[in-house]
This record gives sequence, structure tokens and C-alpha cells, in this order.
Amino acid sequence: MFDLESLIRPNVRVMKPYSSARDEFQGEARVMLDANENSLGSAGPAEFNRYPDPQQRAVKQALGALKGIAPEQVFLSNGSDEVIDLLVRLVARPGQDSILSTPPTFGMYEVAAALNDVTLERVPLDADYQLSPDALTQILASKAKIVFLCSPNNPTGNLLRTADIEQILRGFPGLVVVDEAYADFADQPSWLTRLGEFANLVVLQTFSKAWGLAGIRLGMAFGSPEVIAYLNRIKMPYNVSENTQRLALAALADTSRFEAMRQELLQSRVTLQAALAELPIVDHIFPSDANFLLTRFRLDVGAVYQHLLSQGIVVRRPTQAACAGSLRLTVGTAAENDTLVAALRAFV
Ligand SMILES: *Cc1c(COP(=O)(O)O)cnc(C)c1O
Repeated sequence: MFDLESLIRPNVRVMKPYSSARDEFQGEARVMLDANENSLGSAGPAEFNRYPDPQQRAVKQALGALKGIAPEQVFLSNGSDEVIDLLVRLVARPGQDSILSTPPTFGMYEVAAALNDVTLERVPLDADYQLSPDALTQILASKAKIVFLCSPNNPTGNLLRTADIEQILRGFPGLVVVDEAYADFADQPSWLTRLGEFANLVVLQTFSKAWGLAGIRLGMAFGSPEVIAYLNRIKMPYNVSENTQRLALAALADTSRFEAMRQELLQSRVTLQAALAELPIVDHIFPSDANFLLTRFRLDVGAVYQHLLSQGIVVRRPTQAACAGSLRLTVGTAAENDTLVAALRAFV
């Protein structure tokens, strides 16, 4: 059974978090001489002389309101990459424990495992990039501290089946992290809606994809207040910059732009899919619930990739063996998609 206290690494359970000046005093005072900031102002065009809110309360409030989640269930990080690393550090002891992922999938789980000297257990997806009954059995029997499930999956684009994830949430005694970086492009509800049912569920989202803010580096984790409180204890005090917090707040106040872009990308995915399907060199386009299309080619994919590069078009060539022969094509602007299709049509 899932028991958070026994899952947390013993050193984390007993550690006393760093208490910053801004943790101890929050708000506006007449004179702020507690944090060794520069009261005169900032070099450069913008004022950033004060430390940011370490708990990012305004952003969490706005996000919570948007997603119907209590701010105590929200953790913000310097991109999803940071929280993936923190989750591993929270529960997996270096040199002893393991985490589990289901390749072909996002590469950062492996990087976080390697960095933290934690074993990565790989349970491969089947030919449809889904969890087979065998894979489910293997996951449920695993002693891993975390299972990372990416849904919609990168680089394949598909959602994992709801019933499979449910089975893991019910039977796996560690944390179940569902990475939903692409959830805004999916036609199924986010696992956020199920957070109340599963104490071991952690949902990851990001501002890098549908929000169009990869440059500000802001990732989100949603979980039980207990898991979130532990993440808050182990994070660096000022992990999300003032600049990032301001820009995220401005974005959250501009949901109509978000929704318009989301709709346009969904429409373009359909158009791009149809155009690619017409090309004789395209063998298969995998179904996508994300903002990219994993596309398999009939010819040497390396040559297709080089041809695109020679035309100034950069796409992703997944390194995983299970994606052999395929390129991962991000849905761009209508003009970019046309350029891509024209370059592929010209390839002989
Ligand atoms: C793009 C992506 C992310 C986002 O990472 P950031 O560090 O937030 O930019 C997370 N997970 C997956 C699977 C992704 O493809």
C-alpha cells in the first residue's frame, strides 16, 4: 500500500529546510533591510532588485482558480525538468533505489535517474506504444519508488489508456507521476480531475507547450498537499524567478490568447496530418494527442532528416529503437507546416 511517510527518503524526512528572509517576512514594509538586496534599484532596464516570492503565491492562486485546484496542491518549478529531479530526490536513495519509465518516452526521467545515482527500470511500451498486460504486471510488481508515465507520450504522441493508468494508481505502492506536458492538446480530461481519488498521483504540466512560454521556464506539479509540502521543503528557496512569476501571471490573465493558439494548433495538426498522408514517402502517421506528429517514412529516415536540414528545416529524429524510421514533426504555423510538406514532397 502507498504510505508517503515511509516512501520519503529518511534524510529528507528529518531535514530542516532553509528559511529565507522572504520566508520569514512576507509583504510590503516601509523599510526592507532584511535580505541584503540593493535598495537603490537594478542595473539594466527593469526593476528586479527584490527577491521573488519563494512560494509563488500569486501564480498558484491564479493557476488554482483556472484549474479548480487548491494552491496547496500546486508546486512550481524551473521547468518540468526541475520537478522531475526533485521527485526522484524526494523518494529514491542514491545507490540503492530505482525509478521506472516506459520507453520510448521522454528522456529526462533517465537523466534524473543517472544524476541521482538511481537505477532506471525500463518497461517498454508495445508496438502501439501502449502498456501491455505483461508491462502492467511488471510495473505492479516493481520495487521502484516512482513510475513515470508520459501521457500524451513524447515522442509518440498518444495517450496511455485510462484503465491502465488507473490500475497502476490502485496497485503501485510508490508515486505515480503522469507527465501531461501535452494535455492541452488531448481530447481526454486531464488526470488533474482525479487528484482527489489517488494519494500517490502527481500530475506534471508545463508552460512550455500550449501556453507558448518555453523561454520563461515554468513547470507545474499537482499532487496531495502532503506531497507538495515535501517538494516545498527540498526545493531551492528562489527556484522561480520574479520575471517568470510576472510573465506567468500575465499569461494566466490572457486565457483567450491561450485558447486561440490551442485551437489553431489543433486545427493545424489535422491539416498537417492530411498533407503528410498524401506523400508517397510517408509510411505511417501515428495518432497524436499532442502538438506533434510522429511520422514513419518508407525510405532511409536519416536521408529525409538530412534533406530537411539542408533546406533549413529542423525536426526531431527520435533516438529510441522503437521509433526507428520515424521523425517527430512539431506542428508549427500554417506557413511553417507548408514549408515542411513542400520540402518533403520535393525529396526523391
Ligand atoms: C516538453 C516536455 C516537458 C516540458 O519540460 P519543461 O522543462 O517544462 O520545458 C515535460 N515533459 C515532457 C514529456 C515534454 O515533452
